Amino acid sequence: KPMGKAFAFDNSYARLPDIFFAPVDPTPVEAPQVIKFNRALAQELGLDADALERHGAGYFSGNVPLPGGLPLAMAYAGHQFGRFVPRLGDGRAILLAEVIDRNGRRRDIQLKGAGQTPYSRRGDGRAALGPVLREYIISEAMHALGIPTTRALAAVATGQAVYRDRVLPGAVFTRVAASHIRVGTFQFFAARGETENVRVLADHVIDRHYPDLKGAEKPYLALLDAVADRQAALIAKWLGVGFIHGVMNTDNMTISGETIDFGPCAFMDRYDPRTVYSSIDQHGRYAFGNQPAIGQWNIARLAEAMLAILDENEDKALEAANAAVTRFMERFQEHWKAVIRAKTGLGSEEQDVDQALIRDLLVILYEQKADYTLAFRRLADAAEDSAADAALGELFEDPNALTPWLAAWRDRLSQDATAPQTRAAAMRKLNPAFIPRNHKVEEALNAAIDHGDFSLFEALNDLLARPYEDQPAFAAYAEPPRPGEEITATFC
Ligand code: AMP
Ligand code: MG
Ligand code: MG
Repeated sequence: KPMGKAFAFDNSYARLPDIFFAPVDPTPVEAPQVIKFNRALAQELGLDADALERHGAGYFSGNVPLPGGLPLAMAYAGHQFGRFVPRLGDGRAILLAEVIDRNGRRRDIQLKGAGQTPYSRRGDGRAALGPVLREYIISEAMHALGIPTTRALAAVATGQAVYRDRVLPGAVFTRVAASHIRVGTFQFFAARGETENVRVLADHVIDRHYPDLKGAEKPYLALLDAVADRQAALIAKWLGVGFIHGVMNTDNMTISGETIDFGPCAFMDRYDPRTVYSSIDQHGRYAFGNQPAIGQWNIARLAEAMLAILDENEDKALEAANAAVTRFMERFQEHWKAVIRAKTGLGSEEQDVDQALIRDLLVILYEQKADYTLAFRRLADAAEDSAADAALGELFEDPNALTPWLAAWRDRLSQDATAPQTRAAAMRKLNPAFIPRNHKVEEALNAAIDHGDFSLFEALNDLLARPYEDQPAFAAYAEPPRPGEEITATFC
């Protein structure tokens, strides 16, 4: 057992009232083996990366306590597919410690799949290898894409089986987050009628994530607005890269504005707002194009949970809550406009034709079943040189379908002073060449699960670290699935 000195942790959540969490130690596993350790992230956290690496199998499986840590499971509630569950909580996640990183930001270090907790209900507290590898790949890819997200510090195989629809190898995932506080955390206390604890949580969140609001005249109302704005910005970024979260339950929406909980999430190939992959989302509640509306619905649930602290006067509180919910959609529209304009190469100066141009492009992508990612990537090429139009056209059922639109677009671009190369370079920084394609992720997971072969997992992680660069060696990973390769359903 390593005896090294304690890491410089500062476990602030453990200092909150008892009802906020349950102290619980990870349940040891039989034969832990490190699959991957994110050394660069450990360094960013200001931790002793050598010590973490040396004892990784112990620390990241939960077999060896992190010196200075204070393991606990957090309490929360949540609306799951619209239905309220008053007591969820970390059923298989254990917060080990909080660290102040090199940039002075507080970060949570949490194990996922580390055994049962008082919130496990009927669950086994464990995680299967496939979902652990998926979360590793996708959360790191999201980060590289420039999207706020929880991060992957490590993945460890447990040497133990987990029992799902079939017997699967088990694993533990180490997640790093600005915090794991969710909309559902507020709901937990509101549903119990514990207004004082809603206030304690709000104060903790302001200290931790929104310190600028401390001096605000109405800090809790300002907090609600700020959370709504971060979520509006986040969802706009998701839409920009074709990300479908898959389970936008209120317990899977953070207060920090980071993407969390990579279950049946997926990246859309062909552009279609109705796209759903999640096997548990039978009515398309969490379809690609529904995400802004669901974001607003979740913010309404947060507003409800905070109602008692928004204003002493009940009518005023309601009015303020409603206004915040309305503002969410206004803010989303602003964020989305900025994202899609930049993706399309339109300068900051808006013109009358722009809205129609953008709408028409998306309609053509949809009607022509074009690949969302490649279409925008090749649009960047076309912004530089019309010789690239042919390669862009190949993505459409009718290769000439975009021709009239391209003429109108170029006409519009000619009114901006920006040089074509400059515009194309800016577009390439927003329109990725690589996303975690579902069929490639699936292929990597299957090789690991069925053959213990992690080479595809490694390759995916490597290439997705630079999603905005053309990487000719990985050209096959940029391609959409061929007909037989298409993944139609994802599972968590
Ligand atoms: P999720 O759908 O991943 O957001 O999880 C919803 C709830 O189910 C959370 O409270 C989780 O902690 C809990 N949960 C999910 N899987 C398990 C498991 N294998 N064992 C115990 N609890 C679980
Ligand atoms: Mg969750
Ligand atoms: Mg989950």
